[in-house]
Amino acid sequence: MVKEVLQHIRQRTRFVLTSHARPDGDAIGSALACAQILRLLGKHAEVVMHDPVPRIYEVLPFAEHVIQADQVNGNYEAAILLECDSIQRTRLEGLENQFLISIDHHTSGRPFANVNWIDPRATATAELVYRLAREADVKISPEIATCLYTALMTDTGSFMFKGTNEQTFALARELVLAGADPAQCARNIYFAHSTAKMRLLGAALCNLHREGPLAWIWVTREQMESSQAKEEDCEGIVNYALSIQDVEVAAFFREMPDGRYRVSLRSKGKLNVADIAQRFGGGGHECASGCSIDGPLSIAVAKMLEQIRPESPVE
Ligand code: 5GP
Repeated sequence: MVKEVLQHIRQRTRFVLTSHARPDGDAIGSALACAQILRLLGKHAEVVMHDPVPRIYEVLPFAEHVIQADQVNGNYEAAILLECDSIQRTRLEGLENQFLISIDHHTSGRPFANVNWIDPRATATAELVYRLAREADVKISPEIATCLYTALMTDTGSFMFKGTNEQTFALARELVLAGADPAQCARNIYFAHSTAKMRLLGAALCNLHREGPLAWIWVTREQMESSQAKEEDCEGIVNYALSIQDVEVAAFFREMPDGRYRVSLRSKGKLNVADIAQRFGGGGHECASGCSIDGPLSIAVAKMLEQIRPESPVE
């Protein structure tokens, strides 16, 4: 598949790259690295995202070139969607008319594009971008390595999530050899929280509920506002609920401005949470997934628990 993707890239010159709205580390890191790889192949490549680059990823090389927009309206010959399993999740208009190339590793990935390279065995989309660079004979610069390492580190939960394997470490090694600095990458992400995020975490943990192997937490709009937190400050909060001993599945509910709830689901491996999220129109991976549910909160929580409980793993 990598050969086919490269062939389509070689046939064209002008590319727009994007990922899902509210981008995480793999979305940003893979898009920035892939755009630079295309530039090194002599292509014109722009990264367009619906949402701003989250603060902790602003330090990544090339992040300053990301264009924030609601629409894609440049003169492009193809759009490359990374880490994104549908056009809708980009929240960008104008992609329907483009020749689409999807590069993704979600288990819930669907072949929606003209060319679909979906490999759920890859621990991060960054792994696929690295393979593309190797196939194209592009030298991985320290800047590209930094973007890909950050993507790999964040999507594997610092090399802790299920699915992390010898290939993940082999890739990490290659990226470090190419110039990524693991300590600096980790510092930029894990020791750079905003004060608002810490306040929000406190509020979320005050709402901690536990029922055997399940734990759930939430934050309301009011709590978001009083913490002065942004959407991006919610990333990773669910992991605190999952970090409890004997908790197998954790859910984090956060109220959106429209009153709906975004739900982040995490599993230690016994329950496939991608399957649960898909029942609500969402998706993701076996151990990390997300979806949206109508409020009010009590109903959203009840609907989610109704789905999880019957399949809930024994403690
Ligand atoms: P998070 O909880 O961090 O927002 O998302 C966890 C994982 O699930 C990520 O890989 C993310 O891309 C995926 N995900 C989250 N929300 C959705 C959704 O609404 N639809 C799909 N298809 N995937 C989602």
